[in-house]
Amino acid sequence: MTERVLTGDRVTGKLHLGHYVGSLQNRVALQDRYETFILLADVQALTTHFEKPDVIRTHLREIALDYLAVGIDPEKATLFVQSMIPEIAELTVFFSMLVTINTLRHNPTVKAESKADGLDEMTYGFLGYPVSQAADIAFCKATLVPVGEDQLPHLELARKIVRRFNELYKPVLAEPKPMVGDMPRLIGTDGSAKMSKSLGNAIELDCTSEELARKIKRAATDPARVHLGDRGHPDICPIYAYHRAFRAEGAPEIREGCERGTMGCSACKERLTKDLDLLVEPMRERRARYAAKPKEVDAMLAAGTERARGVARETMREVREAMSLDYFG
Ligand code: SF4
Repeated sequence: MTERVLTGDRVTGKLHLGHYVGSLQNRVALQDRYETFILLADVQALTTHFEKPDVIRTHLREIALDYLAVGIDPEKATLFVQSMIPEIAELTVFFSMLVTINTLRHNPTVKAESKADGLDEMTYGFLGYPVSQAADIAFCKATLVPVGEDQLPHLELARKIVRRFNELYKPVLAEPKPMVGDMPRLIGTDGSAKMSKSLGNAIELDCTSEELARKIKRAATDPARVHLGDRGHPDICPIYAYHRAFRAEGAPEIREGCERGTMGCSACKERLTKDLDLLVEPMRERRARYAAKPKEVDAMLAAGTERARGVARETMREVREAMSLDYFG
């Protein structure tokens, strides 16, 4: 049986090069090897953006365009909208009986995220979003879930919930396995540990050539390099990290030039700008083509959502039967 992959994004902002390196390019490869379901997680976005539904509405389409721009093919992968699958909400309620409040409170990722978002008090929805994620995975019986290290606690919880369900009622759900790849986390243009739109250190996938050049020009470098001839430390420089992530074959030469002080930062940045522009240009073109046909994009999302919904209905029929909640046949 073909393995099924579930992956996706919270729809709170446009996608950037960090997403490309960390997950999008991997998804483009996955769609050829597995049955791939890609979730536009608008309900999960509500956990932090419940007062700004318009932001979610806008970004849903922007992210769909980002997916198409990087080469995700709706003929191969099922792209769907989380809130349009009510069965996920139903499964979340059933799953919520199988998880204690303490388990959720002690989830290290939930703790770290609530701190990062400056939440003094967590809502019920925020605290419980890992349960909703378990339902996202289980409704389509995904067997593989690509995750970063920080998402492993969520996947472990999903596995526990599925196991508990299967043992308690009937083994109708698939226990998902993590796919922890060597997907690197891209640092921000300011040199901070993570590229993130909210930190203002991201290069968006839809940026123009001019924006790209400006962002690279302003990006941090090794502060020890003031003059050409100063020896640099590429490992603390975001520009070197990008060379390595996007054109690994040229990275040894950059390292050598930086460490010996023979390559100037301006020349190093110019080379990176050229390479990134070559990478992003076909994405810009694809994005523009799809952006000119918003009705087609909506129809594609609606078709993917309908397909996912069919799978969800079948799973919930089995879930209800397993739980003896199938009252009227
Ligand atoms: S030469 Fe390149 S890698 Fe070295 S500090 Fe300058 S920008 Fe960074």
